[in-house]
Amino acid sequence: MAVQKVPEKNTILFVWFNQYAGILLKTPSKTLVIDPVDVKSKSLQNVDAILITHEHYDHLDPRLIAEIQKETNCTIIADPASTKKLQHIVPVGKLQETKPGDETKIGEVCIKTEKCNHPAQAPVSYVITSEDDVKVYHTADSLPFPEMALMGKKENFDLVFCTVGIAPGSTPQTGFEIARLLKPQVAVPYHTASVSSQTEFAQILRVELPRTACLIPAQNKIYQVSKRK
Ligand SMILES: [Zn+2]
Repeated sequence: MAVQKVPEKNTILFVWFNQYAGILLKTPSKTLVIDPVDVKSKSLQNVDAILITHEHYDHLDPRLIAEIQKETNCTIIADPASTKKLQHIVPVGKLQETKPGDETKIGEVCIKTEKCNHPAQAPVSYVITSEDDVKVYHTADSLPFPEMALMGKKENFDLVFCTVGIAPGSTPQTGFEIARLLKPQVAVPYHTASVSSQTEFAQILRVELPRTACLIPAQNKIYQVSKRK
């Protein structure tokens, strides 16, 4: 799954690598990995930063993170509860706690921390803006929340990941509601083990939000999204 390809200008590549919120995101200059679990550290190469959204087992695997960090010397950005669980196993200077409202830069890539509507200790979600302004929103396990409407208007997202299953309360309908509020160019249904929940999301989207494209990802395949024209 190591992504050798480098995206063209105004483009990002992504890979969904587990049945949860595990995403590898590659911009022309940086590689970010979000919530790595159920993946081999060797398959994640040249990682610049790991982003963690909350402390649940399907998002946080401290041993795996320590391994990736050792192999790549990457930075780790994590919500407060996950930071506590990581602080004694990764180098202090490489671990950064984040809360909603924070902004961090990895080179020219901007990472803005937002809230997350999910029953964890202090969960977060991440708005990632590439160096050439491709806008990605990794909503983690979030259910829809009202502020998403304003975020959608403000950010003009190219790519949004929408939870459609497994997490408490989440369904293809709640995933669609996230897309409806954010109105991205491309919506990706994830955090599910069933293809039928993804196709159901796609069907609702086609009828209710025809200007947003649905991309149903297969696991461990590389997809490309370009900036909205
Ligand atoms: Zn989850």
